[in-house]
Amino acid sequence: MLCLGVEGTAHSIGIGLVKDINNNCKVLSNLIKIYKPEKGGIHPREAANHHEKNIADLIKDSVKQAGIDFFDIDLVSFSKGPGLGPCLRTAATAARALSLTLDKPLIGVNHCVAHLEIGRGTIVDCDDPVLLYTSGANTQVIAFAEGRYRVFGETLDVGIGNCLDKFGRVVGLDFPCGPKIEKIALDGEKYLELPYSIKGMDIAFSGLLTAAQQYYKNKEKLGDICYSIQETAFAALTEVTERAMAHTEKRQLLLGGGVAANKRLREMVNIMAEERDAESFVPTKDLCIDNGAMIAWLGILMYKSGIRSSVEDSIIDQRFRTDMVDVTWRD
Ligand code: AMP
Ligand code: MG
Repeated sequence: MLCLGVEGTAHSIGIGLVKDINNNCKVLSNLIKIYKPEKGGIHPREAANHHEKNIADLIKDSVKQAGIDFFDIDLVSFSKGPGLGPCLRTAATAARALSLTLDKPLIGVNHCVAHLEIGRGTIVDCDDPVLLYTSGANTQVIAFAEGRYRVFGETLDVGIGNCLDKFGRVVGLDFPCGPKIEKIALDGEKYLELPYSIKGMDIAFSGLLTAAQQYYKNKEKLGDICYSIQETAFAALTEVTERAMAHTEKRQLLLGGGVAANKRLREMVNIMAEERDAESFVPTKDLCIDNGAMIAWLGILMYKSGIRSSVEDSIIDQRFRTDMVDVTWRD
């Protein structure tokens, strides 16, 4: 079975083509175009216009790169939510048009669940992980329990990626700021105290962000601030992930989302996993960030488990929660 997946929840428009080979995911192509605002944060309408402009070429290029014909596609899937309304609607419209043109079934999938399933689908030993999903807008600790992917912990305010991007914007870095902050943090020598907010397995970053901005105003060294942000925020993420692993008694950890590219975050969670005698996995970078291949793969899993939907059911859901999905493809 071959599926084309359309991802368009926020800043990225992605088209992925994947094939199911004995229940493993083979990625044939996975192209992404990222909208970068000229200044400020993401403007949903402008991001959607960017996606609309790029999507047709991206679909053509993906099919070409995969070395297939349009009519080899068996299924079309798209991210139904959560995300920004105008972006979701643009991606869904393209997916509907393609499904109707090719006369192939259409499935809308949950973006956060796709981040977890792509790890299980492409990493052979990764079977039942706790996912630490750290992206721009989302930060969640997710694991499978009793027929659903449950959110064991999540941010109560901004996502970790947004927190990094907002701080970066204040100090004059280009979007995306996470990789730049990672580099600058290497110059850090002094740890500056920052708020460390955890409630149960939930987490908050806005206090840390305000305090970090205050340090910058007070002329603390940027390297020290970046270093301290990373140490504090990533320690908190590692702590809640460990708590979820202890609670669920799972022995595998999976990273996902754009911030999973960060070496310091990887190092911290690896140490934690090792100390618990657990395995830890990270998908390749193109599968960690928002991408069409993960949407395509979840489409295949859902379709194979018997889920069918029509164009009428394909309405988007900006607030589509991870735990709303009935996981029919696992037991
Ligand atoms: P996503 O929303 O999953 O596509 O991820 C985008 C987010 O990842 C942005 O907020 C980036 O700043 C962040 N990001 C990307 N690379 C890194 C990195 N090396 N360290 C920290 N954050 C990163
Ligand atoms: Mg994402």
